[in-house]
Amino acid sequence: MNIFFPKEQDSETRFSLTGETAQKFLKKNINLSIQENINLQDALLEKLIEENSINIVSREEGLKSANIICNLNKLSFDDIAKINPDTLAISFLDPFNEKQLIEEFRKKSISSISMELIPRTTRAQKMDALSSQANLAGYSAVIIASNLLEKALPMMMTAAGTISPSKVFVVGVGVAGLQAIATAKRLGARVEAFDTRPVVEDQVKSLGARFIKIDLGETEETNQGYAKALTEEQIKKQQEGMKKVCANSDIVITTAQVFGRPAPKIITSEMVQAMQPGSVIVDMAVSSGGNVEGSQMGEIIDIKGVKIIGNSNLPGEVPTHSSQVYANNIYNLIDEFWDEETSSFKYDLNDEILANCLVTHRGNYINASVKERNE
Ligand code: NAD
Repeated sequence: MNIFFPKEQDSETRFSLTGETAQKFLKKNINLSIQENINLQDALLEKLIEENSINIVSREEGLKSANIICNLNKLSFDDIAKINPDTLAISFLDPFNEKQLIEEFRKKSISSISMELIPRTTRAQKMDALSSQANLAGYSAVIIASNLLEKALPMMMTAAGTISPSKVFVVGVGVAGLQAIATAKRLGARVEAFDTRPVVEDQVKSLGARFIKIDLGETEETNQGYAKALTEEQIKKQQEGMKKVCANSDIVITTAQVFGRPAPKIITSEMVQAMQPGSVIVDMAVSSGGNVEGSQMGEIIDIKGVKIIGNSNLPGEVPTHSSQVYANNIYNLIDEFWDEETSSFKYDLNDEILANCLVTHRGNYINASVKERNE
């Protein structure tokens, strides 16, 4: 059994194997190979390579000889052309937007797992890469925003005067939002938050932040805990309710997402312009369309002194820890379905986790939503 870890795209700082997970794979007598010329920044991984416990190979060789290929970002069409049928490819796949790529996997009879589709169940928590990365993204959003803000976050009472705490407003309180609230609180900011799911109010309060109440009428969530899309009228009500809070905030962090759909546009340019010059907005939904009018992927836009950060790889700002937890997610997934007797990955299609995250297998679509959209 060979597992191959290819190089990520140049802008990616994370990697899907760590020294710690490599040792666990090696204990299972699995052969590991990593693509050549990667700046690994992991002493234990370097040591295992030096000892020849891990092979260094070209991308082509790795793709051709692997039984399992693990990475963060999706493979290219060129890569797929080199992979043998029945190989398993595991990564984030953006399966609802990458219809053609998924179709390519299916046509070539390559099995593919989308890390986005690991279900939100207790048993799957250890494999839940969306959560492991969103948590660190929430942390990084606050750190980046506070670096750009021309103010300190905590209150300071000094002989030279009292500095009042900066105000942080978090819109969308899922995994990333909760960590953003916790981080801003640790730094001493005064924090407010809003989410369309009223159930999060207690979680916000338990972190010492204030929940902003806006009456939107009925809002729904899926059985996985994801928010359902609002109507246009509800979005207008939300914008109206948030206008004043945004204008009074030094930092606004938006994390609002609706699973499988473009992110809702909730901060208008009018709301941006009502903020004080020097304020900072982090649009954490920028790669799925953005919550903020005017935000751009990979850019910091300045609108009349208000900076809008559109960093699409916030977990990549803390690559040691984001790689650590992603590599653990990958190891835990393979371990969960590892058949010791045959030394292979066991495709139990009746298993709830696999039935969800497996996108293609033996020429078929497996995940029900992908199947419905692609067939
Ligand atoms: P997400 O990234 O899909 O969305 C982020 C947040 O944006 C959500 O809280 C959502 O309600 C909110 N949102 C959507 N539209 C909005 C709008 N117009 N205005 C304001 N907020 C809006 O969410 P997520 O972080 O993936 O988490 C979704 C849920 O799943 C949460 O309840 C989380 O606690 C739960 N969860 C459960 C498990 C588990 O049980 N294993 C694991 C992870 C997450």
